[in-house]
Amino acid sequence: QGGNRCQSFTFAFNIKTSRASENLNMEAELHYALERKELELYYQPKINLETNLIFGAEALVRWNHPTMGRIAPHQFIPLAEETGLIKPIGEWIINRACRQTKAWHNAGLDFLTIGVNLSGVQFKQSDLFHKITQILFNSSLEPQYLELELTETILIENIKINIQRLNLMKKIGVQIALDDFGTGYSSLSYLQQFPFDTLKIDASFIRNIDSNEVNAVITKTIIEMAHKLGLKVVAEGVETKAELKFLRECKCDIMQGFLFSRPLIARDFKNLAFDNIKS
Ligand code: C2E
Ligand code: CA
Ligand code: CA
Ligand code: CA
Repeated sequence: QGGNRCQSFTFAFNIKTSRASENLNMEAELHYALERKELELYYQPKINLETNLIFGAEALVRWNHPTMGRIAPHQFIPLAEETGLIKPIGEWIINRACRQTKAWHNAGLDFLTIGVNLSGVQFKQSDLFHKITQILFNSSLEPQYLELELTETILIENIKINIQRLNLMKKIGVQIALDDFGTGYSSLSYLQQFPFDTLKIDASFIRNIDSNEVNAVITKTIIEMAHKLGLKVVAEGVETKAELKFLRECKCDIMQGFLFSRPLIARDFKNLAFDNIKS
Protein backbone atom coordinates (compact mmCIF):
# COMPACT_ATOMS: atom_id res chain seq x y z
CA GLN A 1 0.00 0.00 0.00
CA GLY A 2 3.05 2.27 0.08
CA GLY A 3 4.67 4.03 2.96
CA ASN A 4 4.98 1.77 5.97
CA ARG A 5 1.65 0.03 5.32
CA CYS A 6 1.35 -3.36 3.71
CA GLN A 7 -1.48 -5.80 3.15
CA SER A 8 -0.56 -9.41 3.94
CA PHE A 9 -1.97 -12.32 1.91
CA THR A 10 -1.62 -15.00 4.51
CA PHE A 11 -0.35 -15.07 8.02
CA ALA A 12 2.60 -17.31 7.14
CA PHE A 13 3.59 -15.19 4.18
CA ASN A 14 3.55 -12.12 6.31
CA ILE A 15 5.74 -13.62 9.03
CA LYS A 16 8.24 -14.91 6.50
CA THR A 17 8.69 -11.69 4.58
CA SER A 18 8.76 -9.51 7.64
CA ARG A 19 11.49 -11.66 9.20
CA ALA A 20 13.61 -11.63 6.06
CA SER A 21 13.30 -7.90 5.58
CA GLU A 22 13.91 -7.33 9.27
CA ASN A 23 17.22 -9.16 8.94
CA LEU A 24 18.20 -7.28 5.80
CA ASN A 25 17.30 -4.09 7.51
CA MET A 26 19.30 -5.00 10.60
CA GLU A 27 22.30 -5.97 8.52
CA ALA A 28 22.27 -2.65 6.70
CA GLU A 29 21.86 -0.79 9.97
CA LEU A 30 24.60 -2.75 11.70
CA HIS A 31 27.08 -1.45 9.13
CA TYR A 32 26.56 2.03 10.51
CA ALA A 33 26.25 1.18 14.19
CA LEU A 34 29.88 1.94 14.96
CA GLU A 35 30.24 5.23 13.12
CA ARG A 36 26.87 6.40 14.46
CA LYS A 37 28.13 5.53 17.94
CA GLU A 38 25.10 3.32 18.64
CA LEU A 39 26.98 0.59 20.48
CA GLU A 40 27.36 0.87 24.22
CA LEU A 41 28.97 -1.25 26.89
CA TYR A 42 27.17 -2.09 30.10
CA TYR A 43 29.11 -3.35 33.11
CA GLN A 44 27.90 -5.98 35.55
CA PRO A 45 29.72 -6.11 38.90
CA LYS A 46 31.51 -9.26 40.03
CA ILE A 47 31.63 -9.63 43.82
CA ASN A 48 34.35 -11.31 45.83
CA LEU A 49 32.40 -13.52 48.26
CA GLU A 50 35.16 -13.48 50.86
CA THR A 51 35.39 -9.69 51.17
CA ASN A 52 31.93 -8.76 49.84
CA LEU A 53 33.66 -6.18 47.65
CA ILE A 54 33.37 -5.53 43.93
CA PHE A 55 36.50 -6.74 42.32
CA GLY A 56 35.63 -6.26 38.68
CA ALA A 57 33.03 -6.15 35.94
CA GLU A 58 31.90 -8.03 32.87
CA ALA A 59 31.43 -5.84 29.80
CA LEU A 60 28.14 -6.57 27.99
CA VAL A 61 27.40 -4.90 24.69
CA ARG A 62 24.10 -3.23 23.73
CA TRP A 63 23.03 -1.69 20.44
CA ASN A 64 20.95 1.44 20.92
CA HIS A 65 19.18 1.85 17.61
CA PRO A 66 17.24 5.11 17.05
CA THR A 67 14.06 3.33 15.83
CA MET A 68 14.52 -0.37 16.68
CA GLY A 69 15.35 0.47 20.30
CA ARG A 70 17.85 -1.34 22.49
CA ILE A 71 18.98 -4.56 20.85
CA ALA A 72 20.42 -7.42 22.93
CA PRO A 73 23.72 -9.07 21.98
CA HIS A 74 22.15 -12.43 21.05
CA GLN A 75 20.11 -10.55 18.43
CA PHE A 76 23.01 -8.94 16.61
CA ILE A 77 26.29 -10.72 17.50
CA PRO A 78 25.39 -13.71 15.25
CA LEU A 79 24.57 -11.28 12.43
CA ALA A 80 27.85 -9.48 13.05
CA GLU A 81 29.64 -12.83 12.77
CA GLU A 82 27.89 -13.76 9.50
CA THR A 83 28.68 -10.42 7.90
CA GLY A 84 32.24 -10.10 9.15
CA LEU A 85 31.27 -6.98 11.05
CA ILE A 86 32.31 -8.77 14.24
CA LYS A 87 35.90 -7.78 13.43
CA PRO A 88 35.52 -3.99 13.81
CA ILE A 89 32.74 -4.38 16.40
CA GLY A 90 34.75 -6.86 18.47
CA GLU A 91 37.80 -4.60 18.39
CA TRP A 92 35.68 -1.64 19.42
CA ILE A 93 34.35 -3.65 22.39
CA ILE A 94 37.81 -4.70 23.64
CA ASN A 95 39.16 -1.20 23.13
CA ARG A 96 36.23 0.50 24.87
CA ALA A 97 36.35 -1.94 27.80
CA CYS A 98 40.12 -1.50 28.31
CA ARG A 99 40.00 2.31 28.09
CA GLN A 100 37.05 2.48 30.48
CA THR A 101 38.79 0.24 32.99
CA LYS A 102 41.98 2.30 32.78
CA ALA A 103 39.92 5.45 33.44
CA TRP A 104 38.44 3.81 36.56
CA HIS A 105 41.96 2.83 37.67
CA ASN A 106 43.08 6.43 37.24
CA ALA A 107 40.06 7.62 39.25
CA GLY A 108 41.16 5.50 42.21
CA LEU A 109 39.47 2.17 41.51
CA ASP A 110 42.82 0.67 40.59
CA PHE A 111 41.90 -2.91 41.50
CA LEU A 112 39.09 -3.42 38.95
CA THR A 113 39.31 -6.26 36.44
CA ILE A 114 37.32 -6.34 33.20
CA GLY A 115 35.82 -9.42 31.59
CA VAL A 116 35.32 -9.23 27.83
CA ASN A 117 33.34 -11.84 25.86
CA LEU A 118 34.84 -13.18 22.64
CA SER A 119 32.68 -14.75 19.95
CA GLY A 120 33.85 -17.78 18.00
CA VAL A 121 34.58 -15.92 14.78
CA GLN A 122 36.41 -13.26 16.74
CA PHE A 123 38.60 -15.79 18.51
CA LYS A 124 39.55 -17.38 15.18
CA GLN A 125 40.88 -14.12 13.71
CA SER A 126 44.57 -14.61 13.03
CA ASP A 127 45.48 -11.09 14.13
CA LEU A 128 43.45 -11.10 17.35
CA PHE A 129 46.50 -11.53 19.56
CA HIS A 130 48.24 -8.65 17.82
CA LYS A 131 45.13 -6.47 18.17
CA ILE A 132 44.77 -7.18 21.88
CA THR A 133 48.45 -6.41 22.48
CA GLN A 134 48.01 -3.13 20.61
CA ILE A 135 44.85 -2.18 22.52
CA LEU A 136 46.51 -2.92 25.87
CA PHE A 137 49.51 -0.84 24.90
CA ASN A 138 47.43 2.10 23.65
CA SER A 139 45.08 2.09 26.63
CA SER A 140 47.93 1.59 29.17
CA LEU A 141 45.81 -1.02 30.95
CA GLU A 142 48.01 -3.59 32.67
CA PRO A 143 47.24 -6.94 30.98
CA GLN A 144 46.42 -8.82 34.19
CA TYR A 145 43.27 -6.71 34.57
CA LEU A 146 41.84 -7.99 31.30
CA GLU A 147 40.05 -11.34 31.35
CA LEU A 148 38.83 -12.89 28.12
CA GLU A 149 35.62 -14.93 28.49
CA LEU A 150 35.33 -17.89 26.11
CA THR A 151 32.85 -20.74 25.86
CA GLU A 152 33.71 -24.42 25.42
CA THR A 153 32.00 -24.59 22.03
CA ILE A 154 34.46 -22.02 20.70
CA LEU A 155 37.47 -23.94 21.99
CA ILE A 156 36.53 -27.54 21.31
CA GLU A 157 37.49 -27.70 17.63
CA ASN A 158 41.20 -27.47 16.82
CA ILE A 159 42.08 -27.90 20.46
CA LYS A 160 45.83 -27.86 19.88
CA ILE A 161 45.79 -24.57 18.01
CA ASN A 162 43.42 -23.01 20.52
CA ILE A 163 45.64 -23.98 23.44
CA GLN A 164 48.57 -22.34 21.65
CA ARG A 165 46.55 -19.19 21.06
CA LEU A 166 45.44 -19.00 24.67
CA ASN A 167 49.01 -19.56 25.83
CA LEU A 168 50.10 -16.56 23.75
CA MET A 169 47.52 -14.43 25.56
CA LYS A 170 48.61 -15.82 28.92
CA LYS A 171 52.23 -15.01 28.12
CA ILE A 172 51.47 -11.32 27.97
CA GLY A 173 49.52 -11.57 31.23
CA VAL A 174 45.90 -11.62 30.06
CA GLN A 175 43.56 -13.86 32.08
CA ILE A 176 41.30 -16.48 30.56
CA ALA A 177 37.86 -17.50 31.80
CA LEU A 178 35.78 -20.46 30.68
CA ASP A 179 32.26 -19.06 30.25
CA ASP A 180 28.90 -20.88 30.59
CA PHE A 181 30.54 -23.91 32.18
CA GLY A 182 28.24 -26.92 32.25
CA THR A 183 26.39 -26.19 29.05
CA GLY A 184 28.89 -27.81 26.67
CA TYR A 185 31.04 -30.93 26.90
CA SER A 186 32.06 -30.12 30.42
CA SER A 187 34.81 -32.57 31.15
CA LEU A 188 36.99 -30.73 33.62
CA SER A 189 39.94 -33.08 33.15
CA TYR A 190 39.78 -32.47 29.42
CA LEU A 191 39.48 -28.75 29.93
CA GLN A 192 42.46 -28.83 32.28
CA GLN A 193 44.59 -28.84 29.12
CA PHE A 194 43.57 -25.24 28.55
CA PRO A 195 45.30 -22.50 30.54
CA PHE A 196 42.19 -21.16 32.30
CA ASP A 197 42.34 -18.92 35.34
CA THR A 198 38.62 -18.82 36.00
CA LEU A 199 35.60 -21.01 35.55
CA LYS A 200 32.17 -19.42 35.27
CA ILE A 201 29.35 -21.77 36.22
CA ASP A 202 26.37 -21.20 33.95
CA ALA A 203 23.29 -19.59 35.48
CA SER A 204 21.14 -22.66 34.72
CA PHE A 205 22.99 -24.56 37.49
CA ILE A 206 22.73 -21.71 39.97
CA ARG A 207 18.94 -21.46 39.57
CA ASN A 208 17.22 -22.63 42.77
CA ILE A 209 20.45 -24.16 43.91
CA ASP A 210 19.16 -24.03 47.48
CA SER A 211 16.14 -26.26 46.70
CA ASN A 212 17.11 -28.15 43.53
CA GLU A 213 19.22 -31.06 44.75
CA VAL A 214 20.60 -31.94 41.33
CA ASN A 215 21.85 -28.42 40.72
CA ALA A 216 23.21 -28.30 44.26
CA VAL A 217 25.28 -31.45 43.85
CA ILE A 218 26.57 -30.46 40.42
CA THR A 219 27.59 -26.99 41.53
CA LYS A 220 29.23 -28.22 44.72
CA THR A 221 31.23 -30.78 42.76
CA ILE A 222 32.26 -28.30 40.08
CA ILE A 223 33.53 -25.87 42.72
CA GLU A 224 35.51 -28.55 44.56
CA MET A 225 37.08 -29.89 41.38
CA ALA A 226 37.86 -26.43 40.04
CA HIS A 227 39.59 -25.49 43.28
CA LYS A 228 41.66 -28.66 43.16
CA LEU A 229 42.73 -27.67 39.65
CA GLY A 230 43.68 -24.19 40.90
CA LEU A 231 40.84 -22.31 39.22
CA LYS A 232 38.79 -19.43 40.59
CA VAL A 233 35.05 -20.01 40.40
CA VAL A 234 32.41 -17.46 39.41
CA ALA A 235 28.71 -18.20 39.85
CA GLU A 236 26.64 -16.53 37.10
CA GLY A 237 23.05 -15.34 37.32
CA VAL A 238 22.69 -15.26 41.12
CA GLU A 239 19.19 -13.93 41.79
CA THR A 240 18.22 -14.84 45.35
CA LYS A 241 19.68 -14.62 48.85
CA ALA A 242 19.17 -18.35 49.28
CA GLU A 243 21.28 -19.06 46.20
CA LEU A 244 23.99 -16.76 47.52
CA LYS A 245 23.96 -18.42 50.95
CA PHE A 246 24.42 -21.83 49.36
CA LEU A 247 27.29 -20.54 47.20
CA ARG A 248 29.04 -19.15 50.26
CA GLU A 249 28.75 -22.53 51.97
CA CYS A 250 30.33 -24.16 48.90
CA LYS A 251 33.21 -21.68 49.06
CA CYS A 252 32.45 -20.22 45.63
CA ASP A 253 34.90 -17.34 45.04
CA ILE A 254 32.94 -14.81 43.05
CA MET A 255 29.32 -14.05 42.25
CA GLN A 256 27.60 -12.12 39.53
CA GLY A 257 23.87 -11.60 39.11
CA PHE A 258 20.78 -9.47 39.46
CA LEU A 259 20.77 -10.03 43.24
CA PHE A 260 23.71 -7.65 43.55
CA SER A 261 23.24 -5.62 40.38
CA ARG A 262 22.06 -5.66 36.79
CA PRO A 263 24.54 -4.58 34.12
CA LEU A 264 25.04 -0.81 34.49
CA ILE A 265 26.17 2.07 32.31
CA ALA A 266 29.75 3.17 33.04
CA ARG A 267 28.82 6.13 35.27
CA ASP A 268 26.48 4.06 37.45
CA PHE A 269 29.03 1.27 37.75
CA LYS A 270 31.66 3.75 38.90
CA ASN A 271 29.34 5.25 41.53
CA LEU A 272 28.39 1.80 42.80
CA ALA A 273 32.05 0.78 43.02
CA PHE A 274 32.91 3.91 45.04
CA ASP A 275 29.95 3.36 47.39
CA ASN A 276 31.06 -0.23 47.75
CA ILE A 277 34.61 0.59 48.90
CA LYS A 278 33.35 3.28 51.29
CA SER A 279 30.86 0.98 53.00
P1 C2E B 1 27.08 -14.26 29.05
O1 C2E B 1 28.50 -13.97 28.72
O2 C2E B 1 26.80 -15.55 29.73
O3 C2E B 1 26.57 -13.01 29.89
C1 C2E B 1 25.70 -13.10 30.99
C2 C2E B 1 24.29 -12.72 30.58
O4 C2E B 1 23.41 -12.99 31.67
C3 C2E B 1 24.11 -11.24 30.27
O5 C2E B 1 23.10 -11.13 29.27
C4 C2E B 1 23.60 -10.69 31.60
O6 C2E B 1 22.87 -9.50 31.47
C5 C2E B 1 22.73 -11.82 32.06
N1 C2E B 1 22.57 -11.87 33.52
C6 C2E B 1 23.44 -11.46 34.47
N2 C2E B 1 22.96 -11.70 35.70
C7 C2E B 1 21.75 -12.29 35.55
C8 C2E B 1 20.75 -12.79 36.48
O7 C2E B 1 20.89 -12.73 37.69
N3 C2E B 1 19.63 -13.33 35.93
C9 C2E B 1 19.44 -13.41 34.57
N4 C2E B 1 18.31 -13.94 34.13
N5 C2E B 1 20.37 -12.96 33.67
C10 C2E B 1 21.50 -12.42 34.16
P2 C2E B 1 23.32 -10.26 27.98
O8 C2E B 1 24.02 -8.99 28.32
O9 C2E B 1 22.02 -10.19 27.27
O10 C2E B 1 24.32 -11.13 27.13
C11 C2E B 1 23.96 -12.37 26.60
C12 C2E B 1 25.12 -13.04 25.94
O11 C2E B 1 25.54 -12.30 24.79
C13 C2E B 1 26.34 -13.14 26.84
O12 C2E B 1 26.19 -14.23 27.70
C14 C2E B 1 27.43 -13.30 25.81
O13 C2E B 1 27.52 -14.62 25.37
C15 C2E B 1 26.92 -12.42 24.66
N6 C2E B 1 27.57 -11.11 24.75
C16 C2E B 1 27.29 -10.06 25.55
N7 C2E B 1 28.14 -9.04 25.35
C17 C2E B 1 29.02 -9.47 24.40
C18 C2E B 1 30.15 -8.87 23.76
O14 C2E B 1 30.57 -7.74 24.06
N8 C2E B 1 30.80 -9.63 22.80
C19 C2E B 1 30.39 -10.89 22.50
N9 C2E B 1 31.09 -11.56 21.56
N10 C2E B 1 29.33 -11.47 23.08
C20 C2E B 1 28.65 -10.77 24.02
CA1 CA C 1 30.43 -13.93 29.71
CA1 CA D 1 28.10 -16.84 30.89
CA1 CA E 1 25.83 -17.23 27.91
